[in-house]
Amino acid sequence: MDLTENQAKQKAMDLAEDSRQSEWRYPSFVAELFQGNFRWDLIHPYPVQTAEDKQVGDDFIEKTRVVLERFIDPEEVDRTGEVPREALLALAELGCFGIKIPVEYGGLGMSQTNYNRICSFISSYCASTAVWISAHQSIGVPQPLKIFGTKEQKEAYLPRLARGAISAFALTEPGVGSDPAQMTTTATPSDDGSYYLLNGEKLWCTNGPAAEILVVMAVTPPKIVRGKERKQITAFIVESDMPGFEVAQVCSFMGIRGIRNGMLRFNNVKVPRENVIGKEGEGLKIALTTLNTGRLTVPSTSSALGKGVMHMSRDWCRERVQWGLPIGEHQAVGSMLATIAADTFAMESMAWLACAMVDRGGADIRLEAALAKYYCTETSCRIADDFVQIRGGRGYETSVSLAARGEAPIPAERIYRDCRISRIIEGTSEIMRLFIAREAMDSHMRRIMPLLDPRKPLAAKKPLIWQAIKFYVPWYCRQWIPSSAGYDTRHLSGTNSEHLTYIAGASQRLARTMFHTMAKYKQKLECEQLILQRFVDIGTDLFAMAAVLSSAEATLASRGADNDLQDLVHLRYQWMITDIYRELPEIPREDTPETLERIVIGKPESDASEDASVETKAGV
Ligand SMILES: Cc1cc2nc3c(=O)[nH]c(=O)nc-3n(C[C@H](O)[C@H](O)[C@H](O)COP(=O)(O)OP(=O)(O)OC[C@H]3O[C@@H](n4cnc5c(N)ncnc54)[C@H](O)[C@@H]3O)c2cc1C
Repeated sequence: MDLTENQAKQKAMDLAEDSRQSEWRYPSFVAELFQGNFRWDLIHPYPVQTAEDKQVGDDFIEKTRVVLERFIDPEEVDRTGEVPREALLALAELGCFGIKIPVEYGGLGMSQTNYNRICSFISSYCASTAVWISAHQSIGVPQPLKIFGTKEQKEAYLPRLARGAISAFALTEPGVGSDPAQMTTTATPSDDGSYYLLNGEKLWCTNGPAAEILVVMAVTPPKIVRGKERKQITAFIVESDMPGFEVAQVCSFMGIRGIRNGMLRFNNVKVPRENVIGKEGEGLKIALTTLNTGRLTVPSTSSALGKGVMHMSRDWCRERVQWGLPIGEHQAVGSMLATIAADTFAMESMAWLACAMVDRGGADIRLEAALAKYYCTETSCRIADDFVQIRGGRGYETSVSLAARGEAPIPAERIYRDCRISRIIEGTSEIMRLFIAREAMDSHMRRIMPLLDPRKPLAAKKPLIWQAIKFYVPWYCRQWIPSSAGYDTRHLSGTNSEHLTYIAGASQRLARTMFHTMAKYKQKLECEQLILQRFVDIGTDLFAMAAVLSSAEATLASRGADNDLQDLVHLRYQWMITDIYRELPEIPREDTPETLERIVIGKPESDASEDASVETKAGV
């Protein structure tokens, strides 16, 4: 790698660092989990939606159902690439574009949970229609305005947005996807500072070609931060009727064909200074903060996909007979069905837990949302693939073709095409893993990285060394002491309660291993993506399992004994353990000869007693 590449990489990393939310104002269950602190109290009792709030959501879903059934045929949307205009108008009339906008600004002011329930319902009927609503509200103008907008901006825009003025979020450019440091769209301030001239192109902007109001990220003049020149990215409210705004192309895709998405061009678009959201240079931070809650929609729509697929697969597994048996009774197919059921339960448990955390407040959910997005999109795409498999040739055939010979129009291939995008938008899976790793290691990075900085003089390091010793000696010792906390799991079966203790222990082992690995690789760890990826995958599985246990506890507490549910939980646990082992082969580097156990469990080779307990649990 030559110097220029190194510098470019460093610039990108610096910008990402400057733009991340550095403070942790509230506790995070997942951040604690990666630290070896299993804080069951942060997710238990499982925050079940209140009956009143649920009723509000149920009533709205019913009204939405009427509109969808009246105006939308999802097959027609897929074929024509259009969600009918009258459908969008009827949904706007109902208030669908203002579900999360506060009542004082003309919206419905619903909870995050109800918003995501409604999006999930719409998505399970027609994924393209749900994207119109979620691109508008999950990432479009309302969300950043709610968090960062001034009173004047809220008053000027939120009522319009709530009534159905479509909005969009424009970050990506032809040369800028995961790495916004390369952004080239510029916003040049006028001499008197009263306006900016916006120039550049934005690619794949969902709702963009139909939007009235957009949030656009653009580069403003650089600033000197800590002695270095730093690129400034700023967020602007742009109206599509501003002269110089142009839809350069309407794009078409493999799935969700009814969305309106395109490349936008800005040609000396004059944007008033009052349209800056937050401060100059805060654009990326605004985008990332918006996405923290914005990306909660995808996990809930993914779990709705799982649920829909589970019902359709179950019926087909009973109905279709081959080799003298319903196909579900052949073990290979039955196990796919069971996996879909257990994974769907895990997706639901994670997605609704994260939504409830937003509604309840007092929790930092950046990691929970990221893990839920990563897990649920990966899992739902696998489920869609299994669905095609379970349906055999019919899974590959379009529903229109099936219907043409009188068969049930099950849209397995459309579901498969529609869901694939979820692993790419709002942070690709690879970028989510890097984001999760960075946030999960934040506590260590704040304490250890300054000590490893060769540019820092020893005198400046001395107080930090002392602080680090004071923190790490007790912390490290704690990671070796088995957690004996009496977790409240009174409604879970004995086996499922034991799983909780296992998760607590696994979280300690994960924390120790991460610590050892950091000590070994130091600053180079950020380049060891395969190692980080494994840590993230283990943490994600532990979170999935903890959410499953908490959710099952709540269900069993209200419903009483349910062996099927207990089995489902146990099943999910067993796969988790298998997954952890599959995900952690030896680190594929010649200079890292550690064995799987030493890397995963972070213990000396001689510790045979811990080996034994892990083997029993893993069933290997
Ligand atoms: C249908 C659709 C809707 C969209 N809607 C919007 C929208 O409304 N607004 C908007 O601004 N954008 C939108 N996008 C853009 C979307 O967010 C980007 O496609 C996404 O961020 C990835 O960027 P990219 O496609 O340029 O991929 P790239 O960034 O070029 O990445 C290509 C591959 O390399 C991987 N990769 C990149 N960097 C790293 C790294 N450091 N380490 C490991 N792997 C890496 C990626 O994970 C990916 O697998 C949309 C895209 C599509 C297709």
